[in-house]
Amino acid sequence: MRQLLRNIPKVTEFFDDPSIAELKSRHTPAAVTEWIRRVLEELRAGILAGQVAEIPAMEELCGRVCALAHRDSIPSLRPVVNGTGVVLHTNLGRGCLSERAADAVRDIARSYSTLEYDPGAGCRGSRHIHVEQLLCRLTGAESAMVVNNNAAAVMLILGTLAQGGEVITSRGELVEIGGSFRVPDVMELCGCRLREVGTTNKTHLYDYERAINEDTRALLKVHTSNYRIVGFTESLSLEDIVALGRRTGLPVVQDLGSGSLVDLERYGIHDEPTVQHSIRAGVDVVSFSGDKLLGGPQAGVILGKKEYIDRMKKHPLARALRVDKMTLAALSATLSAYQDTERAEREIPVLAMLATPRETLRAAAEELRQALLRRGVEAEVTAEESPVGGGSVPTQLLPTWAVAVLPGGRMSVNALEEALRRRERPIVGRISAEQYLLDVRTIDPADFVYIAEAAAEVLP
Ligand SMILES: *Cc1c(COP(=O)(O)O)cnc(C)c1O
Repeated sequence: MRQLLRNIPKVTEFFDDPSIAELKSRHTPAAVTEWIRRVLEELRAGILAGQVAEIPAMEELCGRVCALAHRDSIPSLRPVVNGTGVVLHTNLGRGCLSERAADAVRDIARSYSTLEYDPGAGCRGSRHIHVEQLLCRLTGAESAMVVNNNAAAVMLILGTLAQGGEVITSRGELVEIGGSFRVPDVMELCGCRLREVGTTNKTHLYDYERAINEDTRALLKVHTSNYRIVGFTESLSLEDIVALGRRTGLPVVQDLGSGSLVDLERYGIHDEPTVQHSIRAGVDVVSFSGDKLLGGPQAGVILGKKEYIDRMKKHPLARALRVDKMTLAALSATLSAYQDTERAEREIPVLAMLATPRETLRAAAEELRQALLRRGVEAEVTAEESPVGGGSVPTQLLPTWAVAVLPGGRMSVNALEEALRRRERPIVGRISAEQYLLDVRTIDPADFVYIAEAAAEVLP
């Protein structure tokens, strides 16, 4: 063993190898040295554990260094194949942008732009204008602004309208969204007090009326986007709350959560209110996410009465929460598709995935199965149900088609799941009833061959 340890090559001995010289041309000397050290440490540990009988050839060791360098150079943020069927998958980046939105991001990112420049007047412009007009035209709102995400939107709204006062909300709507964003905590952070009214399952008009006092600054309605209270329930309609707001002179604020611009009833998704409905009902301010059902980039859209939005634009928090040019480019391109609902359905992946007819999904599943069979991987097509989203549209399952990849005796279902998930471009499926399933609703057919090749490679 001592002899083996003495024979471990020195770091400098690696530098003569052409493969290491090639690495050094692309990475800093410190990084290359670090990879060599790690390979040597591993070798030393192997010797001490009695697992290494002879020092591998230099060529083999250099190969290990290059493999380690490659593994370390893979970005941790990278594309995956989503075989879960969950269209809005919180952990997988929610949805995908449209081609047009992605192109717009690239164009704006690579160039100087009119972000805050008015080329007509030759002077400073406003970054709000790039999406404000379009948002107002699509929804009928008087005014609009966009911040980093919907959590930020809620903070800015409450901080502007209700600081130092009370906000009345129904007990049935005290939502917690993933990442410990809780309505009560957000209120505290914004310097306002939450006044809960009603019970978990029922809130009446008189509950709101009794709670109003001279400290009340706003009435807040929150869309329970990640849960539903079912059974013996009652809550006030938005119209009732708006009427109460009018009577008492209090602004009515709504956190819509997902905020769809199209009626999702047509895809079999129920009870998801549209943004246009909120504006028509007369809410003073409404906010929603850009990257949930809208299918755009991460953003928080705020719409409503001009007097309130103007105050928000001037609020000190607005600067801290503002969006960058890439977000504005993607949002503007996404919104422009909504000028024609059919175009939106075709172009925006989130909508296209929800709208895919069952027969199309079945044909796609059959195509994936054939691709697998051609590479010697057994598979069968199976009818399944997919949830629309993790944190959005909670109780809704859409009928779909999936492919069960059958490892047979070659490997366990769990090992198959892990091996595919550990690919450089991970394939994420799900295991259900001891089957490994890939739901084709969320898979681009262009990836079927990649999936089949990966499955054939990992199966022994
Ligand atoms: C998702 C959601 C939020 C947070 O939105 P982000 O854009 O993720 O910050 C806030 N409120 C409701 C009701 C939501 O569903």
